[in-house]
Amino acid sequence: MNALLLPSGNRIPVLGQGTWNMGEDPSARRDEVAALRLGIDLGVTLIDTAEMYGEGGAEEVVGEAIAGRRDDVFLVSKVYPHNADRKGVQAACERSLRRLGTDCIDLYLLHWRGTLPLAETLEAFVRLREQGKIRDFGVSNFDLDDMLEAVALPGGELVATDQVLFNLSQRGIEWDLLPWCRERHIPVMAYSPLESNPGEQNGLLGNPQLAAVARRHGVTPAQVALAWLLRQDGVVVIPKAVQPRHVRENRAALDLVLSPQDLAQLDAGFPVPHRRRPLAMR
Ligand code: NAP
Repeated sequence: MNALLLPSGNRIPVLGQGTWNMGEDPSARRDEVAALRLGIDLGVTLIDTAEMYGEGGAEEVVGEAIAGRRDDVFLVSKVYPHNADRKGVQAACERSLRRLGTDCIDLYLLHWRGTLPLAETLEAFVRLREQGKIRDFGVSNFDLDDMLEAVALPGGELVATDQVLFNLSQRGIEWDLLPWCRERHIPVMAYSPLESNPGEQNGLLGNPQLAAVARRHGVTPAQVALAWLLRQDGVVVIPKAVQPRHVRENRAALDLVLSPQDLAQLDAGFPVPHRRRPLAMR
């Protein structure tokens, strides 16, 4: 699996598996664990989760999926903003470690900017790193002004990623946040790469230009949407899939090479906004 370098020098795989909505329904658990294991078997070893997902339930699903193969996996989890003070981060991380059944999270993120002082969050992240409980830390849903503030704080030079909404329909970060992150060698993690709900009428996957590109390659529109993100410099992509067919398709998107004609057609179907807009969020 291709990987990008984090500012610490550690490597992060370019394709991962999301877990939002997992761990909520006990009757779905077996399929969720199986999907994550299938992904790992196919080489999709990054798993993105959060204490928020299923209020810890998703982390438990991940814990079950990675039992006995922790070393094969790159684990990302996130702390709630209301837990993001000095003591709260430490306690939240320890709870996450227990649910995940590991003693170290590879990348630990502030889920979104809340009201607690960012300086305290970063201080707590640095301490967790020194304790060996996390390898790297970063943020999520930070627009450029938040990033500028974060990197200027003590520990800010270690901010390893910004996980944000980025897909063909949501291209606002191409204006400023993405180029800025690239310049600083901070990988961006693209969440909801299929827009969360691809079955929705008039959703991303229903776009006729996307369908035309997919037909040309004999692949699905979802694979084109993922390949479009995967070809971007400095971007990690984390689709969530429970259906085994989806897990396999998403892995195969890594091998899809889009031509200049494809890219032009996708630009026509999904134009970049005409001016800068505030960061979109799910
Ligand atoms: P997503 O990955 O864009 O879409 C997930 C949906 O797409 C599921 O319904 C899934 O179905 C379906 N799907 C997956 N692969 C498919 C394929 N090849 N063809 C057709 N449909 C396919 O949405 P997301 O879950 O919102 O985002 C991905 C991950 O990003 C999350 O799970 C989470 O880890 C992270 N995230 C982070 C934030 C944040 O604030 N930091 C916010 C949102 C999401 P099945 O499950 O039925 O296979």
